[in-house]
Amino acid sequence: MLGGNLPGSRNAMAEALKKFSASGVSNIKSSSVFHSAAVDCVPGTPDFLDMAFTGSWDGTPEALLELCQRIELEAGRPKQHSSRESRILDCDIILFGNEKISTDSLTVPHPRAHLRAFVLEPMAEIAPEMKFPDGVSVRELLMQLPEKAGNQ
Ligand code: ADP
Ligand code: MG
Repeated sequence: MLGGNLPGSRNAMAEALKKFSASGVSNIKSSSVFHSAAVDCVPGTPDFLDMAFTGSWDGTPEALLELCQRIELEAGRPKQHSSRESRILDCDIILFGNEKISTDSLTVPHPRAHLRAFVLEPMAEIAPEMKFPDGVSVRELLMQLPEKAGNQ
């Protein structure tokens, strides 16, 4: 999942896709860019852009996270940042096959993904039948959201 809410974020997301492709992620399929209001952020935080993509990765999940973080840094995101701050680029791993991962640096499925319309809507555009490890599909999760537009 790619996101950002600063001038330049759209470009950073497009560049990120090229870098993932050049760094070992194959068969990339990406969604449109969606807009959503900032959630759990200080008042006045600019709206976010969000885009989902799927791809194949032969390496470990940790190596994929390192690649995400390298691409964020190269886009100009400071190393120290609060998760509630505006950011030029955010690269999150929502699902990694059927795996459940819980380490200090990585939680997969991404803990709040199944509750967030701004994650599920872009995912549903490219992979509605993709399943979370508990067997529930993206499409089903999206339908279950209390308010489609209410990003939790
Ligand atoms: P958020 O993406 O929730 O807004 P940040 O991007 O600021 O928050 O959080 C970055 C931290 O989240 C990283 O240090 C990374 O180790 C951790 N993290 C845990 N699980 C994941 C995941 N599935 N994808 C990306 N980062 C993750
Ligand atoms: Mg992140």
